[in-house]
Amino acid sequence: MSIAPSEYRATDDQVPSDRTESAPTPSNGDAPPVKRKRRRSTSHLKLVPQTLEQRERVKAACEKLVQSQGRTRPFTKRELEEYARGLLDELGMPEGYLGFTMVLIGNFFWKRQFLATPFDRRLLLLPHCLKHAEGCPADYDEFGLDCERCGACSIADYKVKAEKLGYRVLVAEGSPIVLKIIVSGYVDGILGVACLNVLEKAIDKVLIAGVPSYAIPLHSGDCKNTTLDEPWVWDVLDKYEPLPEPETPSFVSVIRAANRLFDDEFDRLLPRIRSKTPQAAKSPLGMTEDIAYDWLQHGGKRFRPFITLAAYDAVTGAKALKGGMSGTEALEFPDGVHHVAMAIEAFHKASLVHDDIEDDDQFRYGRETLHRRHDIGTAINVGDHLIGLGYRLINSCRKDFGAEVASDILHWMSDAHVKLCDGQGAEMAWQQSPDFSMAPMDALKIYALKTSPAFEAALYSGLRMGGGVEQYADMVPAFCRQLGVGFQVLNDLKDWRGDDDNKLIAGQDALALRPTVLLALACEAASDEQRAELKEILLECSEDDATRLSRLRRIFEDCNVFETAEALVDKARTRTETLADEVEPEELRQLLYFLVDTVLAEEVPPANESRPMFVSLPVANNSTDG
Ligand code: SF4
Repeated sequence: MSIAPSEYRATDDQVPSDRTESAPTPSNGDAPPVKRKRRRSTSHLKLVPQTLEQRERVKAACEKLVQSQGRTRPFTKRELEEYARGLLDELGMPEGYLGFTMVLIGNFFWKRQFLATPFDRRLLLLPHCLKHAEGCPADYDEFGLDCERCGACSIADYKVKAEKLGYRVLVAEGSPIVLKIIVSGYVDGILGVACLNVLEKAIDKVLIAGVPSYAIPLHSGDCKNTTLDEPWVWDVLDKYEPLPEPETPSFVSVIRAANRLFDDEFDRLLPRIRSKTPQAAKSPLGMTEDIAYDWLQHGGKRFRPFITLAAYDAVTGAKALKGGMSGTEALEFPDGVHHVAMAIEAFHKASLVHDDIEDDDQFRYGRETLHRRHDIGTAINVGDHLIGLGYRLINSCRKDFGAEVASDILHWMSDAHVKLCDGQGAEMAWQQSPDFSMAPMDALKIYALKTSPAFEAALYSGLRMGGGVEQYADMVPAFCRQLGVGFQVLNDLKDWRGDDDNKLIAGQDALALRPTVLLALACEAASDEQRAELKEILLECSEDDATRLSRLRRIFEDCNVFETAEALVDKARTRTETLADEVEPEELRQLLYFLVDTVLAEEVPPANESRPMFVSLPVANNSTDG
């Protein structure tokens, strides 16, 4: 028996307050918003033990600890911290070594699987701060520092040896190229040398994804002439110890499969009809298909297609997940699953084209938006073309799964599409006549309509093609509602930091009068004077954007808006994890935890901090174009 999407879900224009899946609600009425401490700085936890003897003691204790632990799933950041604190207590060492100890525990979790990675599938990442600051002759190119092996620093030694073994070597930090290398399937294991600042951000990303990694902490975070325990590098750099089978399930092979749909598999799965040749693509009849296919094929993290593939895999024996990093080659999904995953992306990309027109956004994926590159009419038409393509792709899964499955998925997709438009419509209506009595719940309702249904459709589709979904009837909408709303609130928080990669300037949503939960929280908590000032800044003020934003930020901070919003995200995390705890099989539960850890990833780097080595995982970052 198939289940209709809106059957068991409360009418969307009224977020239920009694059922578990109600959106995380800010405490309102008499109790003031939960006052959360400022996000704790971790700089005092990133000390490196002074002596080699002390460092070796911590290292030995970490190795012993990990030997007693299973490898069925990577440690979460929270578990790593608990283990590290316990170890430092045992060793009678200060809390300041927490970051150092967490890195070493992570190392020994992955060491055997890293050593089982062939040399030509390994990446050696070296920090440029190891170079001889005064005398280094090397220049920088798009891949980082192009070491000339002059021998003035240890970079040359590692680089020469590693390249002889077959490693790819990068002297770079934070370059997006690192992500591309991981996703595109060139490397299966990473040996990284970096300071604890950079490693702190890398830990939760790489470990969650399940990329076997081994990191050597630099002795300090000074950005030049830094030092490290060189024997720790040589201890693993030239060792290869094959393992009978992968020990830890990993989602990387499914991440790669989702990306390959829009790369080397694209033309096979979605052959062109009217734009087969460059001439045809430039012709009036072929140009719409050409622009649509180009837009679909380029840009984006392929997050929703990943969910569909991973959900299908989780309920059909989890061959991909259990295959670990080496599963990529053998990874074969039925083309029906491929097509439905591509359909989800086509709907998503169509909504972005229309969204950019409605918000008159200038850039998307670092490129000019379609309506600016062409014109509004052409962009609208391309968006409609992608919607049609989506329905055609879903219909084609009948060959593998039958008409009933195809019609169920079609029903969920169309339902998700209608809700997305309801949410977008509500947002535009508010922008046209802003009502500063808007309650936070009103903003959350819009989020639940705009973001959650796409996650729901992606998750449901994978499960439906994988078999019966009755047992997930309540879980799917409840889980995706929390995930979607939490994702959007995180997005609002990120908007106040800006995003160089996507040319996103900080505070744009506020100045664009988007009805965000941040603005609603401010409207709710503000005094009458502050509310009047909010109106003046957003509707009447002629000051420059920077001045308006700093005045807005001051009111938001006075009203504890950022802390309350982070508390909402914490609630969404707790609720999604609670829902996931009840799910079988284990592989689907792992996927749900993975979605929570990546979509609702904890850390939001402070605006002034340099980009981390591994920027957000190549599936999800907190921007609408995930
Ligand atoms: S070995 Fe390479 S990185 Fe080091 S100083 Fe020489 S050129 Fe620069």
